[in-house]
Amino acid sequence: MSHPQFTPRPLNPIYAGLPTTIFEVMSGLARTHEAVNLGQGFPDDPGPEDVRRKAAEAVVDGWNQYPPMMGLPELRHAAAAHYRHWQGLELDPEAEIMVTSGATEALAGALFSLIEPGDEVVLFQPLYDAYLPLVQRAGGIPRLVRLEPPSWAMTPEKLDQVFSERTKLVLFNNPQNPTGVVYDRAQMQLLADYCVRFNAYAVCDEVWEHVVFDGVTFEPLMALPGMRERTVKISSAGKIFGMTGWKVGLVFAAPHLMKVLSKAHQFLTFTTPPNLQAAVAYGLGKPDDYFTTMRAGLQRSRDRLVAGLKELGFEVLPSRGTYFLSIDLAAQGNAREPNAFDDEAFCLDLVKTRKVAAIPVSAFYAEDAVKSVVRFCFAKHDATIDRALAHLADLARKS
Ligand code: PMP
Ligand code: GLN
Repeated sequence: MSHPQFTPRPLNPIYAGLPTTIFEVMSGLARTHEAVNLGQGFPDDPGPEDVRRKAAEAVVDGWNQYPPMMGLPELRHAAAAHYRHWQGLELDPEAEIMVTSGATEALAGALFSLIEPGDEVVLFQPLYDAYLPLVQRAGGIPRLVRLEPPSWAMTPEKLDQVFSERTKLVLFNNPQNPTGVVYDRAQMQLLADYCVRFNAYAVCDEVWEHVVFDGVTFEPLMALPGMRERTVKISSAGKIFGMTGWKVGLVFAAPHLMKVLSKAHQFLTFTTPPNLQAAVAYGLGKPDDYFTTMRAGLQRSRDRLVAGLKELGFEVLPSRGTYFLSIDLAAQGNAREPNAFDDEAFCLDLVKTRKVAAIPVSAFYAEDAVKSVVRFCFAKHDATIDRALAHLADLARKS
């Protein structure tokens, strides 16, 4: 029997037009060129052994069939206790907490369930790369705020330009990847005031909430006056325990929102591996000491990379959280204009000739990119950091 010839029909243009993520690209180049990988954000450390053993036990001895759609009750209860203790939040484990397969699923589900086609969505550049395609796929009209180094601060003037009666939702990330900024109370209050004034929902990506330094206290957006019933808070066990391959996300929202968020989850993944959930439930109950030691270790690594880069002559921007810090090539005393730099070309050259992978921050802009800032991941052993620094010797003076 003969079939008519297959002629490809157009696919969804949002996905068809997307490049491969910069993280995947740079990790691939790091493998090809046998470079030290300070690009994609993942620690050298394998993660807490007791938590890994819990997961292993749960795989071997535990229940490996579908867990409840909203997540294991023991995890939802552990999360309620954890966030009461660490962030002063009162969350009902039965009605306000849901487990997803990573923060990425939580983001997709939140955007798909809150946005109606044509709604305006406020986003902040630099933006984590998943945000924009998800907003667009949901039919949202992005309204982009451009943040700039060195402070990456929001201002009323910037917010005035994008907020209006058409604003349905704000998507915000704090602590912020890639800048390492932890927004303070005044900045959060400014954003909350606009959300309340324009009656907008907020989806707050707080996956880096535990990774903060210099004694900074992290405050969830949800805790600000007027925000409790309009905010979806998103967390990630992958970041809380430094095991980025563990795709276990947590979503927190008031019951009227959670009812709809759970419908998106039901048809995106429905559930998340129960063994990982059991281990995360155990991990969330670990004593404070575990979390403070984790922070102190990462802060030491940050300081080591900062000191090394400064000694080499790089201008390092402040980082108070996440696994990342950035250098600003335009702040190095070069005579060139900031937009005369090409961070992407710089990073391509770096991985090939210096054998160090980093991330060009322009990849986090959809338009009008800052092109002089380069991100490095410092969640690495001292030896890895030192090797990268040795490879970078004398570069600052040449770039
Ligand atoms: N949001 C931000 C800001 C991130 O940095 C990351 C991961 N690096 C994610 C979301 C995704 O988290 P998960 O791996 O849990 O999907
Ligand atoms: N969030 C990680 C980073 O910023 C990478 C996540 C990913 O590879 N998609 O490096």
